[in-house]
Amino acid sequence: MTRQSIAWVDGVWHDDAANATVSVLDHGLLYGDGVFEGIRFYAATPFLLAAHLRRLRASARCLMIDVTQGDAELTELCAHAIARFGQADGYLRLIVTRGRGLLGVSAHSCERPTTILIAASLQLYPPELYERGVDVITSSLRRASPDSVPPQIKSLNYLTSVLAAAEARARGAHEALLLNGAGEISECTADNVFLVRGGEVRTPPVSAGGLEGITRDHVIELLRADKIPVHEHTLVSADAWTADEAFLTGTGAEVVPIATVDGRPLAAPGPITRRAQALFAASLPRAPAITTLHS
Ligand code: PMP
Repeated sequence: MTRQSIAWVDGVWHDDAANATVSVLDHGLLYGDGVFEGIRFYAATPFLLAAHLRRLRASARCLMIDVTQGDAELTELCAHAIARFGQADGYLRLIVTRGRGLLGVSAHSCERPTTILIAASLQLYPPELYERGVDVITSSLRRASPDSVPPQIKSLNYLTSVLAAAEARARGAHEALLLNGAGEISECTADNVFLVRGGEVRTPPVSAGGLEGITRDHVIELLRADKIPVHEHTLVSADAWTADEAFLTGTGAEVVPIATVDGRPLAAPGPITRRAQALFAASLPRAPAITTLHS
């Protein structure tokens, strides 16, 4: 049976995620006090799950939240969710909040974290945008500096991204570039950014304020294995405006070309973007081939 979306909340399955609930006293809801991961699955196999679990634990460690389940248990839970969801391809959202506590901001009253897993289908962009490319603007908002809450923590507080995404939509674009306080490109609202010039691929270092994207790391590895040079480099708006081509990576977006930056057209998809898309597609889990028996 196929379902719209299902959820597991602290041991209880809900066959419609819309009916799954947490307490109004959960500090994840009250204060954004929690962490999460978005994980794709292809051919019923979670993609790059070990890296997602590692990043979830790193985010939780920064916030001093104990993830009570071990990796084996979370892996098994993901497999159950995929089987119960009933579709081969889709998206998992794994969330660990501080848990239920008193209304005050202090976490001392929260006894144990709340763990949530949602399985759903996901189509971030319509297929034609993977050919045509997305329009990107530069947001007026800045990524937080590492001496506030470090942007590497994938926490439940996504307000900079939420507001920048609204800004993009209001300006007729699909995505927004976020600069850091020094005016350097960090990333987009839910993707990492790659610029190509003269056959060389450049992406901002994580120290510029972006998330250390798992798709980013994967695509860097794929391109380097294909002998395409990729470097971490400080990048500013003019680098994006003058790039030969550019693309975004993310669990949701996968690899998507950029058609325009602040109204300046780029080649989309350029040859290296196409190569990145092809290498990425070839790296995904596949359904086992159906073997026919001949007598
Ligand atoms: N930056 C931000 C702010 C994100 O939310 C995401 C999506 N998790 C990314 C980048 C891309 O990361 P990943 O490839 O791990 O999905």
